[in-house]
Amino acid sequence: MKRNNSESQMAVLLNGKALARGIRLKIKERVEQLPKPPKLSVLLVGEDPASLAYVFGKQRDCQEVGIEFELHRLPEEVRQGELEEKIRSLNRDPSVTGIMIQLPLPKHLDPLQLVSTIDPKKDVDGLHPVNVGRLWLGSYDLDRDLLPCTPKGIMKLLDHYSIPLRGKLVVIVNRSNLVGKPLAKLMLDRDATVMLCHSKTHNLQERMREADVLVTAVGRRPQFVVDAEHVKEGAVVVDVGISYHEGRLVGDVLFERVSEKVSYITPVPGGVGPMTRAMLLQNVLLAAER
Ligand code: NAP
Repeated sequence: MKRNNSESQMAVLLNGKALARGIRLKIKERVEQLPKPPKLSVLLVGEDPASLAYVFGKQRDCQEVGIEFELHRLPEEVRQGELEEKIRSLNRDPSVTGIMIQLPLPKHLDPLQLVSTIDPKKDVDGLHPVNVGRLWLGSYDLDRDLLPCTPKGIMKLLDHYSIPLRGKLVVIVNRSNLVGKPLAKLMLDRDATVMLCHSKTHNLQERMREADVLVTAVGRRPQFVVDAEHVKEGAVVVDVGISYHEGRLVGDVLFERVSEKVSYITPVPGGVGPMTRAMLLQNVLLAAER
């Protein structure tokens, strides 16, 4: 892919933080036009500190744009049936616009069954089988339907920088329901050729070096690290992974080294993370506008 910053050898920064700020402003304006503020209900099981931090981040984001926020905290040992009943009562509650379950859940709970209990119209994570089915059958609209927040945020970021996908080889290192699989479908629908890689992929480094667009979402530093030798000259690199390495939050990619070789790159933090958060707000707004 061609660089558009010919004077400098550094990649163009895919600035998710700045783009997300603009998106939040627009969401706030649209929220103000609604007859009543939408409400996001989040279910949090247990005391995992990372999950708690994510939930409080969502609460701050909601406050900023005028979306009401409601947290339902449940003990680690909560029973599946109890949680399903809680979800059903939120489905019935007309004041609740969007419902999400903070993942991961304790091992004794069945996440698919729980997500399937959410009313698809309130499924602001876009993980209900009905919404997943719409995505895979191609009957969706990126701006109107409830799609998973991270893949949607990545598409919005690439679109903002007018990065072409048609005919390009996109290599995604992740095959989860949250990131890799939905992103593969969104990219496929833009006529990209998509390869989904994972922990069992043979010759992974070679696969990554072939990519015109490389997306990594592993989050296992230092076991998995993307260095300059793993990327193609001029590639677009989207770093979704989150690890805590030597006391700070880092992505999968060695940013300084890789950005000297590629054309576009997301920073961590400030790339995909803020876009994911903004897309959750957008999904709550979409659920309300419907
Ligand atoms: P996940 O379900 O654990 O997926 C991790 C993926 O990485 C799996 O497909 C796994 O392969 C693959 N993998 C693990 N070790 C590998 C290795 N050594 N080589 C190649 N592939 C390897 O996690 P997730 O929920 O998708 O999240 C992935 C990462 O993205 C985490 O760091 C998470 O924090 C981050 N994330 C960030 C955002 C954001 O907004 N920035 C949003 C969502 C997730 P297998 O399938 O074979 O196990």
